[in-house]
Amino acid sequence: MAKRILIVGGGTAGWLTAGYLAKRLGADLPGGVSIQLVESRDIGILGVGEGTFPTIRRTLSTIGISETELVRRCGASFKQGTKFVHWRHAPGGAGPDHYAHPFQNAEARGGLELLPYWLLGVGGDVNWDEVANPQKKAADAHRAPKLPTHPDYVSPLNYAFHFDAVALAALLREHAVANGVRHLIDQVSEVRLDEDGAIAGVVTASGLLEADLYVDCTGFRAELIGKALGVPYRSCRDVLFCDSAVAIQIPYRDGSAPIASFTISTAQEAGWVWDIGLDRRRGIGHVYSSAHTDDARAEELVRAYVGADAEGIETRKFRFDAGYREVNWHKNCVAIGLSSGFFEPLEATGIVMSEVAAGLVASLFPWGGDFETSARQFNANMLQRYERARDFIKLHYCLSQRRDSAFWRDNVAENSIPHSLRERLERWRFRPPTELDVDPNVDIFTEASWQYVLYGMGWKTDVSARAGAYRYHDDARAAFEEVRRQAAFAVANLPSNRELIDYAINNR
Ligand code: FAD
Repeated sequence: MAKRILIVGGGTAGWLTAGYLAKRLGADLPGGVSIQLVESRDIGILGVGEGTFPTIRRTLSTIGISETELVRRCGASFKQGTKFVHWRHAPGGAGPDHYAHPFQNAEARGGLELLPYWLLGVGGDVNWDEVANPQKKAADAHRAPKLPTHPDYVSPLNYAFHFDAVALAALLREHAVANGVRHLIDQVSEVRLDEDGAIAGVVTASGLLEADLYVDCTGFRAELIGKALGVPYRSCRDVLFCDSAVAIQIPYRDGSAPIASFTISTAQEAGWVWDIGLDRRRGIGHVYSSAHTDDARAEELVRAYVGADAEGIETRKFRFDAGYREVNWHKNCVAIGLSSGFFEPLEATGIVMSEVAAGLVASLFPWGGDFETSARQFNANMLQRYERARDFIKLHYCLSQRRDSAFWRDNVAENSIPHSLRERLERWRFRPPTELDVDPNVDIFTEASWQYVLYGMGWKTDVSARAGAYRYHDDARAAFEEVRRQAAFAVANLPSNRELIDYAINNR
C-alpha cells in the first residue's frame, strides 16, 4: 500500500503539485494520502514563469484558488494567447510583421469548416488569426476576455493568466497547507537508496524523511531523479537553440497604462523577447542562443527593446539546456517541473507540463503498491507530450523566412528539424491540420494552435485540386462577416484588461 508522498522543492512545480494532489488524493481526509513538502530557503526558487496555458484555470479551481484571489495576490492579468512580431520577416522586410496565436479555437460555423474556404481565398486578404475568431481583434485592443459579471474562470473567449511567479508560489503554499500538506523548511543533503535502487529516504538537518512516493521538484538541480538515481536528461539543443535568458521588470510609469492581453513575443537576431503585462509592472526577457550571440549583446538588445524605462534597473540571467527526461518516473520517484524537462519560455510550456504531470500522478497514484505499471503509463504519456511540444515550438522557428543572422539560417537547416515535424509538414502541403493530426491524450496543442502558427508564418497549403468540392462559398463569406461583427462587438463592449483587473481588486 502507498500512503505517503514527499515532495522535495517549493517552487511553482512543488506547490502546484502539493496543492493539487492534496485535493485529488484527500490529504485532509482520514483515508487519504499524507503529503509533506520540504524546501530549502537557501537555494530559493527560480521565480520566473509568468505566462500560462488555459488549463491553469481548471488547476487553480481544483486547488481552491479563486480568480479574485489570484488577481489580488499575484498581480495577475488576463492572457488570451501570444502575439508574434518579426518572426516571419526581419524588421523592414516584406509582408506582414506580426501574427497571433489566440487561445480561442476557430469553431465550425453552422457546421461549416472555414479553413479550407480561407485557403481558397474566400476570406479575402485577411490573415487566418483574424478571420477565424474575434479574439485577436479584442486582445489587440487590450480588451479582457470576459465581463465582470461572468463567474470565476468562465468566459466566452478562452483565456489563461499572466502572474507574478513568486507571489503565486506563496499563494499555492497557503492553499496546500490549508488542504493538509505538511511544510518543512530544510535542505536535503543526501538521498539514500535501498538495495533495489529505489529511494529509501532523504537526509535533512531535521532528520531522515521517508515516504512511499518521492516527487522531485528541485528544479534544474534534479537532486533525486538526476543526481541520486542517475536518470539521463536528453538535450534537444540541436533542435531548439535557445539556452539563456536575461530578464528585467519594468514598473508602469502611469497606473492607468493599458495592459496587453497577449504575451508579446518579438523575434531578435539570436532569439526573441517576451513582454508580459501584469497589473503594476511588465516582465520582459530576452531568450537567446549563446552559440549565436553573447550575454552583453543580449542585454543590450533587451534594454534597447524597453528604452529609457530600463535605465538603472537590474537584470537577472538564466541558463538552461532545452530537453527532457525520457523516463520521469523511476521506481518510487517521479520528477515534476524543471527537474523533468524544459524547452524554453516560448508558448509557456513549463507550468502546463507540471499541471499535466500532477494530474497524471493523481490518476495513476499506486494505492495498491503497483508502482511499475503506473510508472510505465506515466513515462509513455509524458514522453509523447514532450516530443510533440518540442515539434510545436520548433515550428515557430523553422518556418521563418528570416535569413538575416546565423541563428535564423541555422534554424531552417534540415538536420535541425525532427523527422516527426517534417512528416507533419509534408502532410500539410495539401491538407490543413485537423483533429486527425492531434491526440488530446498527449498533445497539449490543438490543431487550432498548429493552424495559427502555420498560416501566421506564411505556410501554403494547396487545396486547389479539391476546390470543386467546396460548394458553400456564400455561407463561408457570411460566416467570415459574422466573425468581423463579433470582433467589433467585443472591442466595443468588453472591459479593458486593466478595467477587469481593477474590478476584481476593488469590487468582488
Ligand atoms: P524552482 O523554481 O527552481 O524550484 C526548485 C525548488 O527546489 C526550490 O524551492 C528550491 O529551494 C528547492 N530545492 C532544490 N534543491 C533542494 C534541496 N537539496 N533540498 C531542498 N529543497 C531543494 N514556464 C511557463 O509556463 N511560462 C513561462 O512564461 C515561463 N518562462 C520562463 C522563463 C525562463 C527564463 C525560465 C528559465 C523558465 C520559464 N518557465 C516558464 C518555466 C517555469 O519557470 C518553471 O516551470 C517553474 O518555475 C517551475 O520551476 P520548478 O518549481 O520546477 O523549479
